[in-house]
This record gives sequence, structure tokens and C-alpha cells, in this order.
Amino acid sequence: MAPASKPRYVDLTNPSLTVECPRCGLLTARFVDHCRNDGYKLWPSSMDLPAPPLDLTVDYAARAHQLGIHLFPNSNYPFIICLGILFLGLAAIPFDSTVRIVLAVIGGLIFLFGVIGWVLVEDVRMFPSESPSAQAEVEH
Ligand SMILES: [Zn+2]
Repeated sequence: MAPASKPRYVDLTNPSLTVECPRCGLLTARFVDHCRNDGYKLWPSSMDLPAPPLDLTVDYAARAHQLGIHLFPNSNYPFIICLGILFLGLAAIPFDSTVRIVLAVIGGLIFLFGVIGWVLVEDVRMFPSESPSAQAEVEH
């Protein structure tokens, strides 16, 4: 048998549905295990189990903290902010002026509640201080 100068098995990076037999060059359906021309075994083994999936989980919060990047906390307050913006938008519709003022006040209060809750309450709770005592929060 001649030494293998071509790749022993088919090119897995080829996205087409056909593969070229490394030995005779016949285009064969990708899902067929052997070449139909010369019976060459195209695939290493159909009995091998696939490799276990790699655990590529990344703790982005810890990574951002390590890099000194400020992430906003996971929060439901943005939905409240959007609700406030909805009422503010309704107040922009030319209704009766009393209705518009009431809608603007309701929307403004909901919007401010959301902004204060998100930026001043949850964010401060997640990042107690950005001052030199940052070593105290590394302990966890
Ligand atoms: Zn072949």
C-alpha cells in the first residue's frame, strides 16, 4: 500500500452534503459510511461516541469585576422605566390638557421610581463602594 499523502479521512469542515473519497475521488453522499466505488471507509468509526461537550461557562460578572468593568445589575427596574415611558408617551397625545397632565405625572412618577430603584438602590447594593475598600468585596 502506498504511503498516505492525502488526508486519511474526509474533510469535516466542508459544508456540502457530498464528500470526496480520499482514495478514488468519487463524490459520495456524506451520510454513507463507505465509498460506493471502492468500498473505502470514509469515516473513522461510526461506533465512537461523540466527545463530551466542553464546559465553556464564563462567569461574566466575576470577569467584569476582575477587569474593573462596571456591569449594571440584573434587574426588573428597566421594565418599570419602560412603563413610565409608555405613560409619558401617552401624555404626548393631544388629549384634553387635564388628561395629559395626569398621564405625564403618572408616567413621570413611575419613570423616576424605576430610575431611582435601578441606579440608586440596586446598583449601590451590588457595588457597595467603588472606593479603596474594594479589597473587602473580593472576599466572596
Ligand atoms: Zn472511493
